[in-house]
Amino acid sequence: MTGDITEVPADAVVNAANSRLAGGGGVDGAIHRAGGPSIMAELDRVRPPGGCPAGQAVATGAGALPAKWVIHAVGPIWRGGGRQEAEALASAYRSSLRLAAERGAKIVTFPSISTGVYGYPVEKAAAVALSAVAGFLAAGAGSIEEAVFVLFDPGTYSAYAAALDALAERGAQR
Ligand code: ADP
Repeated sequence: MTGDITEVPADAVVNAANSRLAGGGGVDGAIHRAGGPSIMAELDRVRPPGGCPAGQAVATGAGALPAKWVIHAVGPIWRGGGRQEAEALASAYRSSLRLAAERGAKIVTFPSISTGVYGYPVEKAAAVALSAVAGFLAAGAGSIEEAVFVLFDPGTYSAYAAALDALAERGAQR
């Protein structure tokens, strides 16, 4: 769907965080603004020394958001595609789903991780994101019943819609 991820009810909301887990612009700023200061206060308690590396995630409560948890996932900064960006991006999605499933989440919402300030080309990121999430769900996702991408702008939505069609096509050919 298109929309503002801070307004969509979910059990777990995934945030596109930076490795310092320090808040910032984009979706990260929107989540902290809408969720309130309890999220940063909790991050200050659980933040790993040295920050959270790309491909990993940390969970907190969701403050005033219509959710129970925020999963702060760190995507890779795009550096041309030869620095294992795809592996790190897929891992950010899988780590988020694992943390959500450990908590018993049923509905998980995702933004388009890494395709804003981090510069990951959205067509490439969409294919990686959808196959990582679909792969996790197909392998037995525990409590998770629904994974929803909440995309902020029509261009991002189109890229994810095309990637989802391509993924379904490949599935149908098997
Ligand atoms: P990154 O640093 O991982 O690239 P950004 O926050 O800069 O993260 O961008 C990731 C995506 O999130 C972009 O497509 C951006 O348009 C989108 N975005 C920004 N605000 C919101 C929001 N409130 N809800 C959903 N998506 C958002």
